[in-house]
Amino acid sequence: MEKEILLTIKNLTVKYKTDDGIAEAVNNISFQLHKGETLGLVGETGAGKTTTGLSILRLLPERTAEITEGEIIFKGENLLDIPKNEMSVIRGKQISMIFQDPMTSLNPVYTVGSQIEESIFLHNRDLTNPQIKEKADEMLELVGITPERRDDYPHQFSGGMKQRVVIAMALACDPELVIADEPTTALDVTIQAQVLRMMDELKRKYGTSMIMITHDFGVVAKTCDTVAVVYAGEIIEYGTVQDIFEDDKHHPYTTGLFHSLPNMNQDTERLQPIEGLMPDPMALPAGCKFHTRCPHCFDKCKTVLPQDIDFNGHMIKCHLYSKEV
Ligand code: SF4
Repeated sequence: MEKEILLTIKNLTVKYKTDDGIAEAVNNISFQLHKGETLGLVGETGAGKTTTGLSILRLLPERTAEITEGEIIFKGENLLDIPKNEMSVIRGKQISMIFQDPMTSLNPVYTVGSQIEESIFLHNRDLTNPQIKEKADEMLELVGITPERRDDYPHQFSGGMKQRVVIAMALACDPELVIADEPTTALDVTIQAQVLRMMDELKRKYGTSMIMITHDFGVVAKTCDTVAVVYAGEIIEYGTVQDIFEDDKHHPYTTGLFHSLPNMNQDTERLQPIEGLMPDPMALPAGCKFHTRCPHCFDKCKTVLPQDIDFNGHMIKCHLYSKEV
């Protein structure tokens, strides 16, 4: 059966105006997300992952950021064409976002119950107060917090519990798409595993689609169906989670990311970090953006932008795989 497409991003290009010049944050990114699936956007800090997430919600800073090209088609409609007031209805109700730091989303002076109730009320004005309260209690229970704690304040919860509250708020209006931006990075490893498991269970229960923004391949392995590896604002490799973890063919950047991770099955004395730094988005190199760090770089890489090479849906943007090397 053909899978239903929920979101299509086509040639998304985002630039930031800064005092020092124009930063090319997202460069011609395209991908699709199917209903009920999770796509991982993976890469180092500054690769353009969060900017892509904020573009979908139209939450980029208006004065400095500009989407110069592209389309964001959600359920058949280009989100970039719809008026601002309609977008605020879609935000929260149909698409919601979970940020890395729960305190970005929680107000320290309101009880957690009232904050969940507010997010339900904003998108369900026809519900009565008792119905809203009941739904908020249901959401707390769903994320493993007893409703008796509804009158507690955020500071009375641990980091992991606060993130559970944020997830309850994000899911309170049954959104079809959740964008989770490093949702477990601020948590310790055990709590991280619990929160990821809970998110995965909720996703399956409600058929929610998700974009998981992360730098952590462990998170990708646990939660994602498809993966887009992002470097300097471009998707340089895209495939199913099996393509990324089991295929022998990879973009040299993805290979570098894997080598910089500890491997439980191998005796390794030292990890091998990728040498050098991601290029300055205000002065991106010509040709392949990774050529300044790539151990396989050859002349063509320095001048010619590589195109996607397609291995049955596993896409790799690298001259090593093109026939005319
Ligand atoms: Fe390395 Fe060249 Fe491939 Fe870029 S195109 S990743 S520089 S081999």
